[in-house]
Amino acid sequence: MKDKWLVGVDIGGTTIKLAFLTQNGAILRKWEIPTDTSMNGSNIPDDIARELRNQLARMGQDRNDVLGIGIGAPGPVNIKTGSVDVAVNLGWVSFPLQERLEQATGLPVVVDNDANIAALGEMWKGAGEGARDLICVTLGTGVGGGIISNGAIVRGVNGSAGEIGHIAAIPEGGAPCNCGKTGCLETVASATGIVRMAMVEVHTSYESSSLRTYLETGSSLTAKVVFEAAKAGDNLASKVIRELTFHLGIALANLANGTNPQKIVIGGGVSQAGNALIVPLRQQFVRFTFPRVAIGAKIVLATLGNDAGVTGGARLALDACKQKMLII
Ligand SMILES: [Zn+2]
Repeated sequence: MKDKWLVGVDIGGTTIKLAFLTQNGAILRKWEIPTDTSMNGSNIPDDIARELRNQLARMGQDRNDVLGIGIGAPGPVNIKTGSVDVAVNLGWVSFPLQERLEQATGLPVVVDNDANIAALGEMWKGAGEGARDLICVTLGTGVGGGIISNGAIVRGVNGSAGEIGHIAAIPEGGAPCNCGKTGCLETVASATGIVRMAMVEVHTSYESSSLRTYLETGSSLTAKVVFEAAKAGDNLASKVIRELTFHLGIALANLANGTNPQKIVIGGGVSQAGNALIVPLRQQFVRFTFPRVAIGAKIVLATLGNDAGVTGGARLALDACKQKMLII
């Protein structure tokens, strides 16, 4: 078991990221393939198995050199069976990913939600720096989240813990969310939400703004443009960033009061704003958090980027192996 490799896999709607890692979490090789969503994503396990086989052969290894596979799927997962309840982007409904991938590879497989394995990756090798109590939030097109308590992913009764993006942020009159509710955190704290709020400001305010000038050139707003305008002193853009950090700050404060984390790791495209996001977010967080909880919690930027998922996947396989969940 000692020198065997780990495989981390992160399935997304457009690409599947794969990597071989050592048991210390060092990436030996990483690559990605397009996600084949034809035939309701039924080819995905075979695609992964073929890739692993080919890459192992290229590196002069075979499956006996691999301890196990840890894999993240974009949807809620039944951790006991390794079945993905639903993954809209892939066309999966009750998809037996663990069973199919074990058959295709002949290796032990453990499956979890993609946001959960990203959190595990950041805890192990990224911004978490080994903190065992951690909240990880990914601010991208949507808002993803993973909560780790005492070193273990919090999964809940049916695999839906850590759905930070769907915390109620605007209780009444909020914008519609993909989940079917309205006013979720995702509608105000994702890149999409930031652009939406900026468009509302541009269309309802009489104040002059560089955002309006930008739109008049025929370009589409992005979260990055809004952050840059705020940095340059634009009032409307600054108002949008205040709204974002206010709602995200409250949500994280409430979560932190329930979990008392050591680290809150912020990742995803929006986190590239760096201190323009983190500094006002920390102010709002401290404002709404129980003082002793605020003292214990550090808000930091994610450091692994696209490698968080494969790193967390490898850790998941390692942990499962140690817990003898896997047959080795
Ligand atoms: Zn929602």
